[in-house]
Amino acid sequence: MAGPRKKPKTYHFNTEWEEEFIFTMVKDKCVCLLCGQTQALAKKENLERHHTKTHLKFQDSYPPKSRLRAKKVEDLKLGLKTQQCLFSKPASLEKAATECSSSAKLGVWTTQLKNGRLVHFPNPEKMVQGLEDDKVFQPEWYCAHLDKLSTEFSRRFGELDDMGEVCTFVSNPFAPIDIEQVAAKMLKVFNLPNDSEIDMEIVEMQNDIELSARARDSDFWGLISRERFPLLSGCALRLSAYFGST
Ligand SMILES: [Zn+2]
Repeated sequence: MAGPRKKPKTYHFNTEWEEEFIFTMVKDKCVCLLCGQTQALAKKENLERHHTKTHLKFQDSYPPKSRLRAKKVEDLKLGLKTQQCLFSKPASLEKAATECSSSAKLGVWTTQLKNGRLVHFPNPEKMVQGLEDDKVFQPEWYCAHLDKLSTEFSRRFGELDDMGEVCTFVSNPFAPIDIEQVAAKMLKVFNLPNDSEIDMEIVEMQNDIELSARARDSDFWGLISRERFPLLSGCALRLSAYFGST
């Protein structure tokens, strides 16, 4: 039997540090509520160093021990909590992206069927192979059904057409994309003013090495600073609210 293991030193987060250094605990990490940076150890010196180094000006608008500061911290914490609730299901975003592309696929299938190509239709394909005269097969009949289905799809998912790319970006923000194009679609989908500089936020995010290392975190968007990326985090939040229940 091995003797009792020496326990690694544990640090306990002191809730007073929320107002002092604007950090809060998320699972086992300390998260800066202002920029989303995480600290593995709940060490007072580490949090203090980050806050005084990075957010020196914060105390100008929110003086220490003021009611204003307490209120701000509560707001930031509430925002973070909301984001995390909504982002606990990243799979639903990927599902939405798939649904968006289904409508495009349907169009391709219909065209192929009209041309007598049956690769996507195993049952009619077998049926045709069993026919002595394949001229008997009338693709128009199926096409009429697919057209109907396509119309139904467009009706239900029409507004989601542009959203396909937006969903793909939000579920994998560091994949290479046409930034101009995605930014334009985000403006359209979320009805943002044309001069919104969302493209600049995308560029900044994609060039942030620290963030890219966390791209696979299931709560990635929940940890993104709303102050640094107001447009992107706002869009991601709205998107998630839109699909959160599916
Ligand atoms: Zn910070």
